Amino acid sequence: TVRFEHIDKSFGDHQVLHDIVLAAPGGATTCVVGPSGSGKSTLLRCANLLEVPSAGRVLIGEEAITDPGADVDRIRTRVGMVFQNFHLFPHHTVLHNVTLAQQKVLGRSRDEAVRIARSHLASVGLARLEDRRPEQLSGGQQQRVAIARALAMDPEVMLFDEATSALDPELVKGVLAVMRDLAGRGMTMIVVTHEMRFAREVAQQVVFLDQGRLLESAHPTEFFDSPRTDRLRSFLKQVL
Ligand code: ATP
Ligand code: MG
Repeated sequence: TVRFEHIDKSFGDHQVLHDIVLAAPGGATTCVVGPSGSGKSTLLRCANLLEVPSAGRVLIGEEAITDPGADVDRIRTRVGMVFQNFHLFPHHTVLHNVTLAQQKVLGRSRDEAVRIARSHLASVGLARLEDRRPEQLSGGQQQRVAIARALAMDPEVMLFDEATSALDPELVKGVLAVMRDLAGRGMTMIVVTHEMRFAREVAQQVVFLDQGRLLESAHPTEFFDSPRTDRLRSFLKQVL
């Protein structure tokens, strides 16, 4: 379980998160939706310390990762993150992209890292592309490499920030299928997405951020069929 306890976040005098309280249960998928600029990415980034909250705590399991003495590098290995723009190393092969951090950060041997990389590449449908460089892949394939790379670190939690937003429509499906599969295998996931169908079908919890405030959080059926606030009702009208 990932717990956000009364998170505030300001950039200068601009407060972008206001008192966010949220538990993303272990083994479940929590989807975060809301308008552009509502603070979705900032909230997600607080869960692996790419941003440090101005107030409040984030806990992963029992560990308060925002406590002053926390070991940032170790915490980042517990939390995998997948971004909109893949963030692969352009000059390395697919296989090297997936083995690098395993060797450098986890200290795995080359053989072990390769074995683990190949099993994750196979699970995202890329077994035969390990010698290519990112530019020789489609966006959807690149995103699946990024997912395999994150999974190779054996994370306890996976964060996805609009992982399909930069993809051509026909490539979105393959990436969502990988995410759906991961959710089905009981990975703890927090997914910022515009894919409302994915949220409805895959998530156990959907939350709505608006202007830095968490306005609603519910099971997807309730979230989509009986929104409680006018803000969510009008947001859903725009996106559905
Ligand atoms: P989008 O759907 O467009 O990705 P979002 O919901 O992810 O939006 P955030 O990126 O979290 O929104 O941004 C929330 C607010 O915080 C915005 O007003 C943004 O301009 C501001 N913001 C985000 N990062 C920074 C930063 N590093 N410095 C200053 N302001 C920032
Ligand atoms: Mg964002």
